[in-house]
Amino acid sequence: MPLSAESHHSPELEPDRGDQSGADAGAEMATSSTLAPPWKTLFEAALDAMLIANNDGVYVEVNAAACGLLDLPRSALLGRRVADFLPPDTNFEAVWQAFMAAGQARGEQQLRLPSGGVKTVEFAATAHIYPNHHLSILRDITDRKRTEAERDALSRQLEQWVISSAEKLQRTEAELRSQQQRIDDILNSLECVVWSVHPETLETIYVNAAVQELYGYSPAAFVASAELWFSCIHPDDVPLLNADIKALQEDVKIDREYRIFRADGTLRWVRGQARLVRDKAGRPLRIDGTTVDISESARLDAERKQAELKLKEHQATQQLILDAIPDLMMRVNREGRILNLISGGEITLYSPIIPEQYRFIYEGFPHDLAEQRMHYIQQALDTGRPQRYEHALELNGQLCHEESRVVPIDETEVLVIVRDITDRKRAEATQADLNQKLKLVNAELNRLATIDGLTEIPNRRSFDQALDLEWQRARRQQKFLSLILCDIDCFKPYNDNYGHLAGDDCLRQVAQVLNGVVQRPGDLAARYGGEEFVLLLPDTALDGAIEIVEKIQAAIAQCRLPHAFSAVAPNITLSFGVVCHRPAVKEHSPRELIHRADLALYQAKARGRNGYVVADSGD
Ligand code: GH3
Ligand code: MG
Ligand code: MG
Repeated sequence: MPLSAESHHSPELEPDRGDQSGADAGAEMATSSTLAPPWKTLFEAALDAMLIANNDGVYVEVNAAACGLLDLPRSALLGRRVADFLPPDTNFEAVWQAFMAAGQARGEQQLRLPSGGVKTVEFAATAHIYPNHHLSILRDITDRKRTEAERDALSRQLEQWVISSAEKLQRTEAELRSQQQRIDDILNSLECVVWSVHPETLETIYVNAAVQELYGYSPAAFVASAELWFSCIHPDDVPLLNADIKALQEDVKIDREYRIFRADGTLRWVRGQARLVRDKAGRPLRIDGTTVDISESARLDAERKQAELKLKEHQATQQLILDAIPDLMMRVNREGRILNLISGGEITLYSPIIPEQYRFIYEGFPHDLAEQRMHYIQQALDTGRPQRYEHALELNGQLCHEESRVVPIDETEVLVIVRDITDRKRAEATQADLNQKLKLVNAELNRLATIDGLTEIPNRRSFDQALDLEWQRARRQQKFLSLILCDIDCFKPYNDNYGHLAGDDCLRQVAQVLNGVVQRPGDLAARYGGEEFVLLLPDTALDGAIEIVEKIQAAIAQCRLPHAFSAVAPNITLSFGVVCHRPAVKEHSPRELIHRADLALYQAKARGRNGYVVADSGD
């Protein structure tokens, strides 16, 4: 029964030692008489279960508490073996022998009850309380054990919970630490300065590593001194930033560009952004912000502004120039798309220009003009050479003219420059008209200068010119030049009798006859003066000249111009002086020729008129 045994004797419970031994003796002792009063009374009254077994482990005496504990009446319990109540796997013999040897045992034990229940007991056993009698005192600790077990389970649960909570906490802490590390790493890898300061004292709560690069001071330096931020700001910008800090308290978000001095004294332009962070109750918690170096972009910005200003000035100048140019200019591609319409302010054709209406060469311009324009654009692109053309068109009922030049820019684009040449064209037209008139006037003047007004055949002036020319030619070519001088016979009496107008009429008829006779090119019949005429016959020998004279005589005769007062004939007759000459190289003037003809004529008159005299050869 006992698990641990030690030698122990209880003299109070020691009964009288007899000489009984063996199972029979034990059975014999299992009577109430085994115990002598007062032990018997004590035995029965004890609250703990008390059982006495013999050497074989068979119960020979039990008290009431034992019956209650093992849930058996005394009669059923006596004679039962200790082993009956022990768990089946118990090596009872060994345990029992050890107990017997040790004399004592204490401990806890589980008991199986015949009713099927299980109880836990605390026991103290003493062997040999007298020979062959062994006492066990059992106390039911089942409830206590259960409570203890429950308590243990609870405490185990609690322990488990504490452990897992602690682990969780550790994990969370580790996670937080690694998150914090990550955030720190991120913040410290940023180029911009990230900071957080106390909303009132402006003491630095946090600032990342970038502050070192921008300000030249370590984050620790800013944490150590709230003044450091302000000592870096350019004095001119301090009032602005003070105003910003005030504005922050009213929850205005700040975005400010200002200047700072680095630790090394160099100036930097920075951009600061900040906002006030409040807690859930709305109390100011901190001011968070960032600061970025914008020195480079500020410089670029300044440069860009400068360049823009220059460009604007340039554009203004260019616009002034363009405005002063009365031409329409446009950049056009091969498909006729207007890429850029450069119109000055002085455009006189197609004005006013609205660029949105001129996106395509066919938009806003007359179709035939656009067709022509397209043709020259393609021509310019194909040949790579500038083209020029003019176009007349009707605008608002007026005939206008444009002159276009198409200059290739590259293989795909041309510059078209259109100029209003209406005024020029009108001036040109007027000029042409005037020129035409002048020509006519000149021709008339010329005619008047060379034609005899009365007879309308060449006058003396044109004869003189022709004579000079033909004289030179005949001299050069060594050809004959014949000259016939003729004079109306007795014209004075004609005039006197028929009147001056009839005289004029007669002169015209004679002139027509003379003019009709000379037909070769170069021949000339002219009025020499008064009623005298002259015929110039280039490249004509004497026989030819005489032939002409005879032709004239015949033609005049045929005219039958009556002259009742002539001393020669009843009709008008003429007298002729004929000269034929081949000018010598040294003969420079035809004067001699005239003179000889004159003489011949004089002779013809002297010979009785109505005939001809050939001048003597001057050779
Ligand atoms: P001759 O046979 O000798 O030539 O005698 P003539 O009368 O013809 O010659 P004269 O020189 O004496 O007269 C010429 C006349 O011709 C004088 C003038 O009245 C006339 N005469 C000259 N020019 C014109 C003219 O333009 N118109 C008219 N109607 N008569 C003219
Ligand atoms: Mg005459
Ligand atoms: Mg005469």
